[in-house]
Amino acid sequence: MTAMQHISVWLDVPLRGAFTYLHPQPLPSGQRVRVAFGNRELCGVVDNSVPPQALDEARCKPILAVLDELPPLPEALLQQVRFAARYYLHPQGQALFTALPTALREPRAVTLADRRQYRLNAAGLAAAPSARSTVKLQLWQALHQPQSRDALRRVHPQAGAFLKQALAAGQLDILPWQAPPLQVAATLTLNDEQQAALDAVAANLGRFGAFLLHGITGSGKTEVYLQLIARVLAAGQQALVIIPEINLTPQLIERFAQRFPASHIVCLHSGLSDGERLQGWVDAWQGVADIVIGTRLAVFTPLPRAGLVIVDEEHDGSFKQQDGLRYHARDLAVWRANQAQVPVLLGSATPSLETVANVEAGRYRKLLLSARAHGSARLPRIGLVDTRRLKLVDGLSEPVIAALRQCLARREMSLLFINRRGYSPVLACTACGWTSACKHCSARMVLHLSARQLRCHHCGAQQRVPLQCPACGNPDVQPLGEGTQRLEEALRRLLPEARILRIDRDSTSHKAAWDAVYQRVHAGEVDILLGTQMLAKGHDFGALSLVVVLGSDGGLYSADYRASERLFAQLLQVSGRAGRAELAGDVIVQTNWPEHPLYLALTRHDFDGFAASQLQERREAGFPPAASQVILRADAPQYHEAEAFLQQVLALCGELPPPLFVFGPAPALMARLAGRERAQLTFEAPQRAALHAWLRALLPQLDALARKAPRQLRWSLDVDPQEI
Ligand code: ADP
Ligand code: ZN
Ligand code: ZN
Repeated sequence: MTAMQHISVWLDVPLRGAFTYLHPQPLPSGQRVRVAFGNRELCGVVDNSVPPQALDEARCKPILAVLDELPPLPEALLQQVRFAARYYLHPQGQALFTALPTALREPRAVTLADRRQYRLNAAGLAAAPSARSTVKLQLWQALHQPQSRDALRRVHPQAGAFLKQALAAGQLDILPWQAPPLQVAATLTLNDEQQAALDAVAANLGRFGAFLLHGITGSGKTEVYLQLIARVLAAGQQALVIIPEINLTPQLIERFAQRFPASHIVCLHSGLSDGERLQGWVDAWQGVADIVIGTRLAVFTPLPRAGLVIVDEEHDGSFKQQDGLRYHARDLAVWRANQAQVPVLLGSATPSLETVANVEAGRYRKLLLSARAHGSARLPRIGLVDTRRLKLVDGLSEPVIAALRQCLARREMSLLFINRRGYSPVLACTACGWTSACKHCSARMVLHLSARQLRCHHCGAQQRVPLQCPACGNPDVQPLGEGTQRLEEALRRLLPEARILRIDRDSTSHKAAWDAVYQRVHAGEVDILLGTQMLAKGHDFGALSLVVVLGSDGGLYSADYRASERLFAQLLQVSGRAGRAELAGDVIVQTNWPEHPLYLALTRHDFDGFAASQLQERREAGFPPAASQVILRADAPQYHEAEAFLQQVLALCGELPPPLFVFGPAPALMARLAGRERAQLTFEAPQRAALHAWLRALLPQLDALARKAPRQLRWSLDVDPQEI
């Protein structure tokens, strides 16, 4: 019997190691294979960088099939996965399969489009079809030049049959894919700031560098991306553009396609069929695609000739995956750019504090676009309506109603933005500004009315709800940011002649629904747009002259320390909807806290001032980005089951070496989800490396503990959590 090779194979199972299988010959790393695992057959990926276990051949199973219709997965992808698994403390096999398109996760061969080119050889040239068979003649003539199957189909739909016949007759040469010559449609003349941004990144092509393109909506960021991409394509390289799901609109794709009419643009997002996603992914990997535009999952697309990575709206929460491998696409994009030694450009009107901190530390370079690129549009005026002394009618103040009425009289459109992001209520004093901070840590306590308690979701502390303000004795202590429930009704009653269009998650989960919204808006059939977070994103509703913000106070003080960062970004974004084109718009924020620094910065459009003060607060509190966090979550049908597991973990941890901290167990902010109770431990340290190394060393014991836990318990690690 010939000696069999022991081969390490990654599988999509929640175990940290690779598995060892047998095969008569060595196989390259990245090779997909089919193997038996338990009573199932799974797809596996060979990795020779992992030493196989020295198992007895009798105890090892053979590889059932080598799925080699594609080349082995590229080493750069395996490296990226290795990094992601290590960084996010996730089983590497599962990380690898997260990175692959669904079709490649199955233990089956895949079929792909034919990307080769065909051209007549001498025999083919000699075999001219008769002049009467016009179709054949047409195709034969086209094949004097190299043609892809697709291109030939555009010459005539019967191309397939003709190719088959000519191939069988040995009349064709087969050539590898050849990109058509680059075409760049007319570009705009950049303004000085755009030009400076372009020059800075262009001077860095061919090596790693991280740049923040900080520019308000409409300041021409996309134009800078397009002109940079033109340079990259001209150098024969590929560009990767990562954008939030919601921004991946036909309009955006069309803009890219118009600029680069001959380039192969691949769009990758979760809405594709498995086959479409596979094809795009493989086209990118095989160098056929010039530009890859996609949502967070696109960050794993292999690019043999990467020249540039762009992350648009880099602050967007959708870049963080919230289950399985909890990666952050922006952070992985920066890592990839470094790996490929190319520049990465992060664009935003409201950069994340993580990125601002990286700019401050000199790791990223900031490029500023300070004005709108187009026309004379001015920034909107942002005003505050102080509701402490006003009588509200179902949550609406008189100045807001008056402004809406005037807007209606001028036949202009207004937008009512209701900030109803499930803030858990924090108590606040209307007289002195006291808020329910935790005595034991730097988080804020949340009101639990049913239990008449304040609870800290960071460290788990509890106390009774105070009857009056502990600071000044005022009996009027209230949960922040409530009272937008009956708003739509009130609006319809107060402004019966207004045509109100409500936009919520349900009405806009389908593309068709959005198109209908756009159509009605652009046909002038809407007077007031009413909606929540959906409206704050990058949708262009044309000329809006008034934006009203309601219910935003809940984001000022929250148990989630990121709430004010998100609120500010959202308010700036939604304000950006006012006064596009020639109209200078108005923004009115209705608030109980008109002196709050967040609102004052907002009225001045002062992102930098706000970011600096927020960063200062985070430093003082020891929260990210001034520190590093990892949350260990557990959930179970009963809270005590989740908590008991975390208590065992805590016991396992023992004393943490300073300066590492652990807080909890505490109930998660959203303590109950889908019939399960959720608890968490929060690990923190000023330095990421020390925290990760310590947790990594703990993993084997943690895994062992988890194996003994009750079946109904689920747990996960979230590195750099975005939601607490
Ligand atoms: P952003 O991506 O920052 O929102 P865009 O690139 O979409 O900005 O630009 C906003 C508008 O301004 C677009 O209509 C764009 O065509 C136009 N624009 C951008 N740059 C220029 C320029 N240099 N000259 C004239 N118009 C421009
Ligand atoms: Zn008070
Ligand atoms: Zn606390």
